[in-house]
Amino acid sequence: MPALAARETGLPAARLTGERGRTCGQLRLFAELVRSGGALGARIDSGPSGTDVRLRRVPLGPVAVFGASNFPLAFSVAGGDTASALAAGCPVVVKAHPAHPGTGEAVARAVTAAAARTGMPAGVFSLLVGRGHDVGLALVGDPRITAVGFTGSRAGGLALIAAGRSRPVPVPVHAEMSAVNPVIMLDGALAEPEAAASSYVASLTAGAGQFCTNPGLLLLPTGPAGDAFLSAAARALKAAEGQVMLTPDIARAYTEGVRRWENVPGVREVARGTAGAGPYAPAPVVLACDAAAYTAHPELTGEVFGAAGLVVRWSGTDELLCLLEELEGQLTATLHAADADRATALELLPVLEERAGRVLWGGWPTGVEVCHAMVHGGPWPATSSPGTTSVGTLAIERWLRPVCYQSFPDALLPPELRDGNPLRVPRQTGSGITGGA
Ligand code: NAP
Repeated sequence: MPALAARETGLPAARLTGERGRTCGQLRLFAELVRSGGALGARIDSGPSGTDVRLRRVPLGPVAVFGASNFPLAFSVAGGDTASALAAGCPVVVKAHPAHPGTGEAVARAVTAAAARTGMPAGVFSLLVGRGHDVGLALVGDPRITAVGFTGSRAGGLALIAAGRSRPVPVPVHAEMSAVNPVIMLDGALAEPEAAASSYVASLTAGAGQFCTNPGLLLLPTGPAGDAFLSAAARALKAAEGQVMLTPDIARAYTEGVRRWENVPGVREVARGTAGAGPYAPAPVVLACDAAAYTAHPELTGEVFGAAGLVVRWSGTDELLCLLEELEGQLTATLHAADADRATALELLPVLEERAGRVLWGGWPTGVEVCHAMVHGGPWPATSSPGTTSVGTLAIERWLRPVCYQSFPDALLPPELRDGNPLRVPRQTGSGITGGA
């Protein structure tokens, strides 16, 4: 499967082998969650008047999944949205991504075979293949669909959100769209500019920059330490070569996006790598401008999907705070700082929490851990659902709804809510969490 996906996407086979591991790992993680009973969210309590009330979560119903072009395995047919929806007990209909139809079909065959082997009901999983937006719009418009998961462009996400809202019975569309993932460098983090700059360039150019968490915006202080970082980044970037992008359209959008940035007055090129072989491997690039140019030109604020970085120079904490306050919602925000920057960091943190779903202390935002505590989400327009995540076990909550049972006889309650707790699931009660294996 990695070899087929490599042929369709241009991604290296080694990366896709790793991605296959992540795909299987997240399916297993959700299986563990189901076995633990934790996702049921069982609660047993009584109100002030003593009435017996019990709650569990039930699946919404059939879910439509639009896979991502940039993760043909881990965020496509059997990816995170599919895994979390199936774990919630929802049948899944995947709209195949047109950038990797063969991989999509091969994965769908594997899922269908696994469903048959494990005695799942017929129709628990299906794949729709076809060119053009009509297929996806018809899927979202189908009255049997109860929720939608999407990863892709802002334009695509907006179209599907509108489709979900305009149905006679509207449905939630959990869309993960675009982000520039600001990285804030404070003075203390610039003591070793070579190391910091080479790790920045490595993160910016990994996978041709085609990660939703790509560090597209770096906020760098003015002054000699910032200058030294930028010179080191230029040296590292000049040695980098462009890789084949996922589709001709994505390569074209990258080239146009870089040109859009370059045409803004006050923007200058810091460095450019070399283009790779063929027409779809454009050179990585880093551009820079000052804070005034950035705030005066909204065309600089959007994502350029690919290995293009914009560095904005700031002077003083007030200017930095203004820049952060003007940012749109983001998947991530990263703070590079040393102990000496602690007071500034504390001043910035409330704004970062407000702007991003994941706040990092050091490191780089590319590389998303799949685990219980991960948030891959964030305020609009990073996503349409700021209250949730599309990676990690919390993602299951998108496909569940709570039902409360009031004053029911024990025998008529679902097993997870009966007095004896025959399924031994964890339950929130008036005296804390009880039960669980
Ligand atoms: P896309 O064009 O949004 O397509 C994603 C999926 O949505 C595809 O299955 C596509 O199928 C469908 N679709 C797109 N527009 C639609 C519409 N108006 N109505 C109904 N269905 C629609 O995304 P992409 O091809 O993966 O990449 C294009 C751009 O998306 C990139 O340049 C990048 O900006 C962004 N992107 C962002 C992320 C992220 O995580 N932030 C990840 C990947 C890509 P059809 O075209 O067959 O309808």
